[in-house]
Amino acid sequence: MSKKKILITGGAGFIGSHTAVALINAGYQPVIVDNFSNAEPSVLEAIEKITGTSVKCYNLDCCDAKNLNLLLQKEGSFDGVIHFAAFKAVGESVQEPIKYYKNNLSSLWEILELMDKSNTTKIVFSSSCTVYGQPDSLPVTEASPIKEAESPYAYTKQVGEQILTDRVKNGGMQGILLRYFNPIGAHPSSLIGELPQGIPNNLMPFITQTAKGIRKELSIFGDDYDTPDGTCIRDYIHVMDLAEAHVKALQYMEDNPETAIDHFNIGTGNGYSVLECLNAFERANNVKVPYQIAPKRAGDITQIWADTEKANRLLDWKASRTLEEAMRDAWNWEQKLSQ
Ligand code: UDP
Repeated sequence: MSKKKILITGGAGFIGSHTAVALINAGYQPVIVDNFSNAEPSVLEAIEKITGTSVKCYNLDCCDAKNLNLLLQKEGSFDGVIHFAAFKAVGESVQEPIKYYKNNLSSLWEILELMDKSNTTKIVFSSSCTVYGQPDSLPVTEASPIKEAESPYAYTKQVGEQILTDRVKNGGMQGILLRYFNPIGAHPSSLIGELPQGIPNNLMPFITQTAKGIRKELSIFGDDYDTPDGTCIRDYIHVMDLAEAHVKALQYMEDNPETAIDHFNIGTGNGYSVLECLNAFERANNVKVPYQIAPKRAGDITQIWADTEKANRLLDWKASRTLEEAMRDAWNWEQKLSQ
């Protein structure tokens, strides 16, 4: 039987590359589309090395309808799409909102049009826990209210969910929205991992780069939040656990053709503060990371972590890797990178 062919937009990026590995491990054939705006072509070789399988990749922008049509002519229909391609930095989105609205929304509707043209009926959409805004009660469940978005990035995810929901309700398409919490870590081979360009926006690569001496010190954004140690709390999930959730989401749509649209929290169910994360990194790797307390960052919410019961039950998926494992994998990956 031929392998099911899955289009992964943004498939050379951090979560996309790990998902490509998880798909190959599960017997799927990924086809990657990436414009390499935030990824390196060397990732493709690394995926091949890990899996022993060659991966087809198209260097194109998902906002570019003309090139997507060429892709369609070459590839025809897909058994599913996983749509990662998007800008993802909360802080940057506050500084450059139009860039975020333009890219994140137009890429989504171009992909939906491509799906319609090619009779591709299943899509997994990268959503985010930021759709919940600052929740009233924790942990957040999928039934928690969608609050006012705290950043343009978060708003692109709220609107993206709505666009996809409206399209799916129109018939002939199934969609799963995965609301990611905070992905960290790297593949245990240290062949793929997070590759931020320039100064990292996210906590984990900033920690690893500071531990390596590339950055002088970590700035902790705020220590007077209403949390036990005053720093923000997030649900940090190993990127391989997150990657495997995408495979489960595809399988769920295959096994439940009556499912039109559904959403799932993809986290661990545990919240850790920035200081706790830093301590866990230092303990797991026996290294010191200098830090200072800095002003709060615009767009940050105080605390959030996931109720994952729905994903555990319906997707038959549960995060299995520990925070320490993620910290070790992230550090091993950083150490393998040339400066
Ligand atoms: N953070 C920090 N210093 C940094 C980067 C992030 O203190 O250099 C904090 C940030 O304020 C948030 C947490 O770390 O509380 C996670 O931030 P990240 O950007 O990794 O993910 P987000 O939750 O914003 O998507």
